[in-house]
Order: sequence, then structure tokens, then C-alpha cells
Amino acid sequence: MLLPITYNASLKDLNTFGVPSEAWALVSVERWLQVAHAVALAEDANRPLLILGEGSNLLFRGDYPGLVLRIHNQGCQIVDERDGQVKIRVAAGERWHAVVMWAASEGLWGIENLALIPGMMGAAPMQNIGAYGAELAQVLTQLNCYDRAQKRWRTLTGEACRFGYRTSRFREADAERFVITECVLTLTRDGEPNLSYPGVQAELELLRQRAGTGADASVTPLEVARAVSSLRRKKLPSPEVVGNAGSFFKNPIVTEAHCESLKTDHPELPTYPAEPGHKKLSAAWMIEACGWRGKRRGDAGVSERHSLVLVNHGEATGQQIWHLAQEVARSVHDTFGVNLEPEPQLL
Ligand SMILES: Cc1cc2nc3c(=O)[nH]c(=O)nc-3n(C[C@H](O)[C@H](O)[C@H](O)COP(=O)(O)OP(=O)(O)OC[C@H]3O[C@@H](n4cnc5c(N)ncnc54)[C@H](O)[C@@H]3O)c2cc1C
Repeated sequence: MLLPITYNASLKDLNTFGVPSEAWALVSVERWLQVAHAVALAEDANRPLLILGEGSNLLFRGDYPGLVLRIHNQGCQIVDERDGQVKIRVAAGERWHAVVMWAASEGLWGIENLALIPGMMGAAPMQNIGAYGAELAQVLTQLNCYDRAQKRWRTLTGEACRFGYRTSRFREADAERFVITECVLTLTRDGEPNLSYPGVQAELELLRQRAGTGADASVTPLEVARAVSSLRRKKLPSPEVVGNAGSFFKNPIVTEAHCESLKTDHPELPTYPAEPGHKKLSAAWMIEACGWRGKRRGDAGVSERHSLVLVNHGEATGQQIWHLAQEVARSVHDTFGVNLEPEPQLL
């Protein structure tokens, strides 16, 4: 099977930071059968393999010495409906936000709070995408993938993906082992809106007011998806305007004892629930407290709008963004004694 290969391929337009990088070779496939061939191509050439979605959660700090594989398979449909539970099957090449808006317009609940998260369906399980009190792990019931270690196709249950806060087995023990080609999500027709996160309720009411929707009309998943999208547009810099990969650091999780001692010195430090005996700290607040909002190092900068977002104001390289990230993490460590972990994959 001949695959269309581009050698010395520029990746500048294939990552949302918009940083320059060149790959040894680039292959795009439309049918999942071609995936195994692309994997073999990299192995035969003794080159590493990178699966590339929209490039919205990675940072190229230089050229990529291997084969970049882009998966463009399409398809998003209801495959089963029983007792109000609706299973949808989504191809890895589908844009995540389009899946959310399609499901919401079908009256399906479960992913509306994950609206406007960039990227492809195939990448979403990697870091168990999450926002506004929701995460993919809540709805992903199975996925189909190619297992490079066993050279065979497999179906993994949601449980077998070992999801955690912004992580999964695909980012940890089994990094680079599986090529995800399809996901099955279980949504519901009789869900309840989750408006617990600050700002979502108010944004929803504002949009309903503008639409002239009566207060007694029941809320729809489409209204929630639109409210979340509108809120995100207000809070986060769009990669179409200034290069970025969203939140650059995870909110650190520390022991309750460590959190208590931090709160003594920094009573305003926002904290959130985490696993028993632990608390999640606001990385954004700590970065802001260290005076980084809007700061620049050449074209690498910290967003004016959201201090957790590093941006490329124009011609920054991945190395320059990474140096800035290290500087930010060092000052947070010096001030709060807390380590910040990057969210994007570093290449
Ligand atoms: C403005 C902005 C806001 C964001 N907000 C959020 C947010 O609220 N919550 C959140 O969780 N994330 C957020 N992100 C991060 C990002 O959108 C997600 O991580 C998204 O899932 C990445 O998708 P992608 O297609 O761009 O993946 P890429 O960046 O292309 O790849 C990410 C990783 O997934 C792997 N991968 C990609 N496709 C496959 C596949 N088919 N099989 C196996 N591995 C694969 C890649 O090799 C890489 O390791 C944001 C990013 C931006 C730019």
C-alpha cells in the first residue's frame, strides 16, 4: 500500500503555538487500515513516530526526527439507544468541538461543558480532556486502537484507559504505544445541566436573555455548550489570534498539610477538591502572584488574559517558549515551594 509521504515537512502550521519545526516525514491517512502501514514505515526506517491531531497540546522545541502521522478518518453517529442512554461512535479524525455541538444539537447530555476545547477526538483520551467540572472519562466507554507493541487492533474499555486528572495510560505507562482510531461515548437524553463552575450560570442567563428564552423553559445541552463556548472566548486567547496551547501548566496537587501551611502565608490562594488527603492549587493564581501576567521574553510571553497560558507573539521558537516556562516554574517554586508540571507534551 503506497502512502503519500512528505519528507522534511514543516510543522509550523500544524501546531497551535505556531512554532517552527520540521519533521523527517509526514503522512496523512484517511482509513484506519492505513495506520498499521504508517507504523511499519516508521519502524522499518528506525524512526520515532508521532501521532499528530491539531497540535494544540504539544510544544516542538526543535525539529522532529521521525514520522508524523495525521489521522483524518471521519464519522460521528448514534450506534445504540436504550433507556435514555445513547452511544455515539466517533472517528479519531473528527474535531472535538464539532462533536460536542453535534451531540448537543441532538439533545444529548454529557459533553456540553467540554465545548470549544481544541483538538481531535483521537487525542482527547490522551490527557482525559476536562473543563468546567466535566471530563472525558465520565462518558468514554470504549475506544478502538492499534497496539504497536502487540501489532494488532484492540478495543479498550474506558476503565482500561486508566484516566486521571489530565492524564491516562496513553500519557504514562503506555505512552506512544497505541494509535487511537475511534471512540465510543455514552451520553444521555435526560441529563441535568452542570452549572457549578463560576461564570457558566451567568453566561447562560445572559445568552437566554438575549435569545428571549423564558426563565421557565428547561435548559438544553446546546444552550450550555454555547454558554461555555462564549465564556471561553472571553477568558482564553484564541490560537487563531495568538499562538498557544491553552493552559501550559496543570494545577498542582499537594497534601492537605502542605496546602494548610501555604494558606497561612497566602490566605487568598484558591484551592479545589482533589483525591482524599489532597488539594488542587490554582496554578494561575500563583503565576499571577509572581507577577508574570502579560510578561514577555522577546516573542515568548505569558498571556495578558490568562496567566496560565503561554503565548507566541509572533516568531518565538519552541525553545524560547520552553525557557520562559522554566523561568515561570522556577519563580513559583521559589515563592510557594510548589512544582508546576507542563500540560502539553514536550517534543
Ligand atoms: C486554547 C486552548 C484551550 C485548551 N483548553 C483545554 C481544556 O479546557 N481542557 C483540556 O483538557 N485541554 C485543553 N487544551 C489542550 C488540548 O486542546 C487538548 O489536549 C486536545 O485534546 C489536544 O488535541 P490535539 O488533536 O490538538 O492533539 P495534539 O496536540 O496533536 O496531540 C496531543 C497528544 O495526543 C497524541 N495523539 C493525537 N492523536 C492521537 C491518536 N489518534 N492516537 C494516539 N495518540 C494521539 C499526540 O501524539 C500527542 O501526544 C486546550 C488547548 C488550547 C490551544
